[in-house]
Amino acid sequence: MAMMEKNIFLDIVEGKIPAEIVYQDDHCLAFRDISPKAPTHILVIPLKEIRTHADVTEEDCELLGRMQLAAAKIAKQEGLDGYRLIINCEESAGQTVPHLHLHVMGGRDFTWPPG
Ligand code: 5GP
Repeated sequence: MAMMEKNIFLDIVEGKIPAEIVYQDDHCLAFRDISPKAPTHILVIPLKEIRTHADVTEEDCELLGRMQLAAAKIAKQEGLDGYRLIINCEESAGQTVPHLHLHVMGGRDFTWPPG
């Protein structure tokens, strides 16, 4: 799938399009994926506008840690005993929305390596 031109996740942050929000703090927002690929499939995004993982800088170190911490809290909140975290960076890796996001997936077994 191609990368969308529009940053629809910013619209979710701004409340312009609805989403089932499961977690938020001063740095991140997390909501259920509209097309889940696992029984639990949540997206953690930074409030700061960052297009891809490749765009992060030294200044984002704390933010990246906050996203990971949010994922661990969400996994507990969702009662997951195991989970997979994924960041797709750029179209060739499967990124479709041009705003950095961490997939938190659980509730089923996963295979390795991913496709
Ligand atoms: P990517 O492919 O960029 O790594 O992941 C983007 C994810 O965003 C996909 O899993 C897709 O299902 C999800 N998604 C796309 N549009 C929406 C939306 O409008 N709302 C929500 N909640 N998720 C979306």
